[in-house]
Amino acid sequence: MDVQIIMSQTFPPGVSSEAFFACADAIAGAAKDLAALGWTPATSSNFSMRVDDSHAAITISGRDKGRLDRDDIMLIDLDGQAVGTDARPSAETALHTQVYRRWSDMRVVLHTHSRTQSVASRLFAAQGSIRLEGWELQKAITGFHTHESMLQIPVFPNTQHMPELVARVEAWLDAGKPLHAYLIDGHGIYTWGRDMAETRRHLEALEFLLACELDLRRLSA
Ligand SMILES: [Zn+2]
Repeated sequence: MDVQIIMSQTFPPGVSSEAFFACADAIAGAAKDLAALGWTPATSSNFSMRVDDSHAAITISGRDKGRLDRDDIMLIDLDGQAVGTDARPSAETALHTQVYRRWSDMRVVLHTHSRTQSVASRLFAAQGSIRLEGWELQKAITGFHTHESMLQIPVFPNTQHMPELVARVEAWLDAGKPLHAYLIDGHGIYTWGRDMAETRRHLEALEFLLACELDLRRLSA
């Protein structure tokens, strides 16, 4: 029997509840799979999806990402403010809304904390980025058509002060450097895409490529 959940989320005029629920269901589905892979330990990680030109659905802070329901996901505006709810969005909301504000065609942001992502972020933090070259799976990143390319993933210093991280991402982009994902030192990865399938493909490819780089270092030590 279905349990009727009393939603605390309300919708201002012009915001489609159907669009929000479609996003919430897509987020919950992806989060369940990513949690099963062990990439969201101890309620970490956060996920969001664009609802319309000025709103996104995002995970509420502190929830178990393997068991998300519609009431674990809330509506925000693109300044990261809660809309129609008293719930508190993820502490890292500003990193999600930055993507939506910067690129109107980006619809999904996934942030996970896998062991591979965390170890790689520490290993490459001193050099400021990871340069992936010669891997066939680089082609899983939209815009990459050959292994004979270079995919650079920056590693930004961790901080609990989000404006600082937002500024580092902004500075990278303002320098004209391509950005498909970034790592935060000792923390995890952020990546995005035009829909859930593309974003999950990016995340899975990056996890695989980082694991390969770690293996190479282990084996050539
Ligand atoms: Zn995080």
